[in-house]
Amino acid sequence: MQVETKVKAINCLHFINGQFVESQNKKSFENINPATEEVLGTVAEGGKEEVDYAVAAARRALNGKWKNMTTGERSKILRRIGDLILERQEELARLESLDTGKPFWLANSIDIPRAAYNFHFFADYMISVNTDANQQDDQAIHYSYRRPVGVVGIIKPWNLPLLLLTWKLAPCLAMGNTAVIKPAEWTPMTATVLMEICKEAGVPDGVVNLVHGFGPNSAGGAISEHPDIDAISFIGEPGTGSAIMKAASSSLKKLSFELGGKNPNIIFADSDLDEVVETTIKSSFINQGEVCLCGSRIYVERPAYEEFLKKFVEKVKTLKVGKPENEDTKVGALISKEHYDRVNSYIEIARNDGANILTGGKRPDGFDKGYYLEPTIITGLDRNSRCVREEIFGPVVTVMPFDMEEEVIVQANDSHYGLSATIWTNDLRRAHRVAHQIEAGIIWVNTWFLRDLRTPFGGMKNSGIGRTGGMHSIDFYSELSNITIKL
Ligand code: NAD
Repeated sequence: MQVETKVKAINCLHFINGQFVESQNKKSFENINPATEEVLGTVAEGGKEEVDYAVAAARRALNGKWKNMTTGERSKILRRIGDLILERQEELARLESLDTGKPFWLANSIDIPRAAYNFHFFADYMISVNTDANQQDDQAIHYSYRRPVGVVGIIKPWNLPLLLLTWKLAPCLAMGNTAVIKPAEWTPMTATVLMEICKEAGVPDGVVNLVHGFGPNSAGGAISEHPDIDAISFIGEPGTGSAIMKAASSSLKKLSFELGGKNPNIIFADSDLDEVVETTIKSSFINQGEVCLCGSRIYVERPAYEEFLKKFVEKVKTLKVGKPENEDTKVGALISKEHYDRVNSYIEIARNDGANILTGGKRPDGFDKGYYLEPTIITGLDRNSRCVREEIFGPVVTVMPFDMEEEVIVQANDSHYGLSATIWTNDLRRAHRVAHQIEAGIIWVNTWFLRDLRTPFGGMKNSGIGRTGGMHSIDFYSELSNITIKL
């Protein structure tokens, strides 16, 4: 069934000090629809000047009306932002789908509702944040005083644009900070609409600012090295994280990094294979496999290997690759030509390494335009193949058999990444034993993507620095002072 696309693209301007503005030099770039390769609109191209202007506005706003609001008043604004996102849910979902190539139903059922929930969650959570006090005999009382960090730079990727932006912006605002945001150059639209929503919800001018642009030598670089930005919250690739860390080092900024993953999905033979296949299809191919948490390295215990592969391949062959606006589309278009070529280059590497491509590995028939790729299952690769070691970030998974529990733990940990892992087993002791040995920040047993926003979220090794979620986010977006009162 085809859904009518009611919402057209928008031309995206910067949002600085409560106003939508062009770049000083009027520069802009085109926003391309990855599903059609057509131009969706234009995006103002910001750089150092716009970032300077935004940071100055954010600095002023930090000490203005925003500072004098009570926690209750700020919480009410956050709640209102969440409500307004839900009021505009369908429009936002259409824009997200146009920008990213992901199915509309996916944006409408996951990305946008979760973006609203990020605000609703922190609107409630911030009210219960307390500080601790320590009595030191009759000599003194020490207590912690919590205050905002200051001006926060938020730099975002393109895969879950509004979901991830709100995941950072909500706790940032909850703790009384101000923000300068840079969305990914590929996906500027929902972030732009969010600025309108923030204004309508009562966020004072200058508290949230948005500068569009690119990475190095552009808006991203200018935020990373800006001496008057106190903290950076970044989601993206480890290489970019490293560049941002270098740029941010001259002014010693506080950093929160959520980076890439090459996540193991470990399937023991005692698990319920039908359930495993059902979830593994999602953990492999949802959002075109462009989710940092996707389980792209699948390890199956040998007695279940053939049966799993048969069921998995059969089902994956039925996944419909199609236009994002169609309700039966399971896999939409990849984000850009550049990324499409990169993902395809890994399939080429696999072929050269002697792999078997059990399904996929090519553009689906009937598409001359758009960056579509069939979900791809690869076997027969050595653990040293680049396809097994590097993050592909597309609808491509490798499947490998294993014999021993100890062996699969070594293989799962043989990675520079350590974001997430999934373990499938009905043996309770083994579930705990293996989970304790896997080097990853997020480990699921017999499920995937089940989240509770109070829990720590983040990666080990090259997958990140720090944790977010609940109190972890509150801690990042605030500074604690210990105050000692001599009795
Ligand atoms: P990317 O690192 O290429 O870009 C992310 C953002 O950084 C963009 O806004 C980009 O313009 C900006 N940027 C690029 N170079 C910069 C520089 N030198 N200085 C400052 N800013 C710069 O990442 P991407 O391709 O947009 O996103 C995909 C990556 O994000 C994958 O590795 C994926 O796993 C990761 N990711 C991680 C999580 C997580 O929660 N751990 C979530 C989503 C995506």
